[in-house]
Amino acid sequence: MYKKIIEHYPCSRREFIVASGLFVAGGLVSCRSEEIERPKTRIFTEPTHIRVRIGKNAQAVTIGDNIFTHTSVGNTPKTIELKPKTKITIAEKTKTISGTIVLHPKENMDDTFDVVAHIPIEKYLPGVIAGELFAHWHPETFSAQAVAARSYATSSHLDRQGKSHYDLTDGPSSQMFLGEVALEVAHRAVEETKGVVLLYNNNIIPAYYSSCCGGLAANATDAISLAEQHKIPPLQGHPGEDLCTSLDIHKWKANRSARLLRKRLNACAKPMNIPKFADIRTIRSIESVETNQHGRPTQLVIHGRRSETHEVRARDFVRAANATIPSLPKTKDRVWSSFLNGEKNGSNLSITGFGIGHGVGLCQYGAQELAGRGETWEDILSWYYPKATILAQG
Ligand SMILES: [Zn+2]
Repeated sequence: MYKKIIEHYPCSRREFIVASGLFVAGGLVSCRSEEIERPKTRIFTEPTHIRVRIGKNAQAVTIGDNIFTHTSVGNTPKTIELKPKTKITIAEKTKTISGTIVLHPKENMDDTFDVVAHIPIEKYLPGVIAGELFAHWHPETFSAQAVAARSYATSSHLDRQGKSHYDLTDGPSSQMFLGEVALEVAHRAVEETKGVVLLYNNNIIPAYYSSCCGGLAANATDAISLAEQHKIPPLQGHPGEDLCTSLDIHKWKANRSARLLRKRLNACAKPMNIPKFADIRTIRSIESVETNQHGRPTQLVIHGRRSETHEVRARDFVRAANATIPSLPKTKDRVWSSFLNGEKNGSNLSITGFGIGHGVGLCQYGAQELAGRGETWEDILSWYYPKATILAQG
């Protein structure tokens, strides 16, 4: 595995920079050659404020010493300039934020509003990477994560500007955001990579990342959506196995009642608009029938008791398997990724899986392994986002 990464760099770092026209900030500046043409284009205007929805359909928010409810917000968005390090509390959860808060009344939803924080991106990022990584992890992992998070947030901002009142949420379906944090390694990583983003064809890429890829990279087109911005080489995954396979966490098991899992899939047919989920009557086993170019499953087949089969998209299966269905008991064993197979064991289905999350782009556990073996944040990003250019805002 390690060799493959070395092969990824056929020349020395200096030659690599010259050959690829790569310009990076921070640690590599001293290696910069006169032959490299500096990028002239401004990618985005500083300071970019990222709009983070920190409260959805809120009924009240405490900002400093003031409480805002629908009555005080009214029917049009209300902007509140914050003093530095203001405490914002929504439903007993408090974040410290500097910047601006905009309260957006929700149409057709009585007495509720969204709470959106507008924060300069470099001030926003430490609270993201502190929420995404363990505090004791390697500084190079933090720096790689900072660039991925900056690219993801900026791409989302550019995509949603004028279309939506927020760019990102503050939870795991988007990027974690803890508010202002004191974690020094997070601040250092953001400072070291200040303004650095990942590009392809001069566009900032939505640099997806997940907790653990399970060993094989996913494509954004299979795992996220067929949107045009997902059809680029940096989001098609690296060839070969990832280093996260050296960690126990890359593999998991889930024991699920075959009958309840079947009912859950049936119940998801309508809300997910996948009629074939309603046709499943029994589940005997689940296996991969189609993979991406790296060998990661994209299509699963569900075998029934009487040799009937149902082919489903792997990512749809995961969504349905973890869905909350009011008429069914809550699931105990989560299905952590679409990289899986399952075999009936008595009345249960024993599922073996690899990875946590969608598996596109940077794998956090793999990045930590790479950093531990001496790879730099630039090396880590080049491995997880093939053919992306690492570029400082010029
Ligand atoms: Zn991995």
